[in-house]
Amino acid sequence: MNLELFYSRNCRDIIDDIENALTNAYGIEINDYEELEPIYSAYNRRRGQYDAFPLLNFLISRKTKEIALWVIDKDIYCDNMNFIFGYASQGNGAILSIYRLNSTELIRKEAIHEVGHVLGLGHCHNHCVMQFSNSVEEAMKKPSELCEECKRVLNLV
Ligand SMILES: [Zn+2]
Ligand SMILES: [Zn+2]
Repeated sequence: MNLELFYSRNCRDIIDDIENALTNAYGIEINDYEELEPIYSAYNRRRGQYDAFPLLNFLISRKTKEIALWVIDKDIYCDNMNFIFGYASQGNGAILSIYRLNSTELIRKEAIHEVGHVLGLGHCHNHCVMQFSNSVEEAMKKPSELCEECKRVLNLV
């Protein structure tokens, strides 16, 4: 499985950590990197945030490998959520916003979470990185690893 990693300028320093996290969690190989800034047409001036939906569509239109991850430093939202850490489309790609993630550990965790969605995992109720988190506190509480059930779904055990 080939993942293409996109990142906005201000996220350059975190890319190595994200790559390590994804390789450890999924054995994914990353050979393609591209600097890409969020498109202004996705910006909602009233909210001061970017709409994740057009961003994700833009990513999917730009990617050249099977799946892609786009790491950005802008605050994002979707539908009726005040904010989200990430937004994913199964089999295609995901966006990860580091805007509210205040540690490398959290960024790694949410990168694993979003790519889990891309690979087909849903939200999980076990002690698992695929737990849904609605806040930084919740994200801090969940583990950085997949539970055995999720690993089995992806044939990682
Ligand atoms: Zn999720
Ligand atoms: Zn799980």
